[in-house]
Order: sequence, then C-alpha cells, then structure tokens
Amino acid sequence: MSVIQIKDKKFAVSIPEETILKEVSRVAAEINRDLAGKNPLFLSVLNGSFMFTADLMKRINIPCEISFVKLASYQGIASTGKVKEVIGITEDLTDRTIVIVEDIVDTGLTMQRLLETLGTRRPKEIHIATLLLKPEKLKVDLDIEYVAMQIPNDFIVGYGLDYDGLGRNYKDIYTVVND
Ligand code: 5GP
Repeated sequence: MSVIQIKDKKFAVSIPEETILKEVSRVAAEINRDLAGKNPLFLSVLNGSFMFTADLMKRINIPCEISFVKLASYQGIASTGKVKEVIGITEDLTDRTIVIVEDIVDTGLTMQRLLETLGTRRPKEIHIATLLLKPEKLKVDLDIEYVAMQIPNDFIVGYGLDYDGLGRNYKDIYTVVND
C-alpha cells in the first residue's frame, strides 16, 4: 500500500519501515552507550510516540524504567489561548535521569512545555529522543540529542502519527501529497 486516502487527503509512503527501524536501532545504540549505569526513566509522550517507544525499548539493553505521559490541551483564561498540561507523571523524578520519548518535534513548543514541567520535579538530567525533527520549523532553542530522522516541513502520518485520529496504525511513514 504505497498511497492511502485518509478523509480528504492522500498520502504516499515517504519513509519505509525498514529505514525507520534502522534509525531507531542507531538511536537505541547511542542511548545504551551514553546512559549505561544511570537507570534512565523513559517518559513516552502519548499518543503519537507509542510505536516509536515500543521499537526503541525493544532495543534498549541497559537497566531502565518506562512510563507514559500525555499532553492535555485546555482553553486557558483570557488571552493565553491554548495551554498544554502534562498529565500522568506518577513517579518521583528527583535525581533521576529522564529521557523524553516524542514522535515529532515541529516548532518545539510542546517539547519546551514538557521540559518546563518536568524541570520543576528536580530530575538530575533530561534528555530528548525524538523519532522525527522538522528543523525548518523549529522556533525554540532545544538540545535534542537523539533524533532518528530529520524531515522537510510536510505533514506526515503513520507509525503512530495521525491525521484527525486516523492513520496511527500504519507501519511506514506517509507524507501528504498535493493533487
Ligand atoms: P510542536 O509543538 O513541536 O510544534 O508540535 C509537536 C506536535 O505536533 C507533535 O507531537 C505532533 O502531535 C504534532 N505534529 C507536528 N507535525 C506533525 C506532522 O507532520 N504530522 C502529525 N501527524 N503530527 C504532527
């Protein structure tokens, strides 16, 4: 299935599963090398990163823990607009080595919000692992150590990422095609 239709949009395969898994394996090897002995706590950001998280964690072979967080959007008061709240942190993060596991960093605002929230819980260090990065869109200064793949500024679905709730189940990554 190289072209799929989701609602009003067509998408074509842009990154096949084989390539994704090769890059996920590379990132896992880097984390195994860098964070050995630190008992890292991986915090996977749902929903989009569920597939990346599963494939990444199968390749992590150092002692570690994993938990899941979610970002809930709610309407902030007055002019603040949409604010995202991080929900689901039940662990004590004090003095822990944290690895945030994200699906995609676009403007970086979501990641900035996560870092701010987690930073208040006194972790020892916070690392970022993202499946995808759109460097052209990045608005904030972030130190993203683990990036599986950089992509152009196009809308993508598959491998956990959705269009209006659909498309998360595909094993490959698809890019929207303009027709
Ligand atoms: P940021 O705050 O970095 O601008 O946006 C990050 C979030 O936007 C991601 O976690 C993801 O939910 C969403 N996002 C950004 N680009 C894409 C894309 O190309 N496809 C999909 N499905 N979601 C995206």
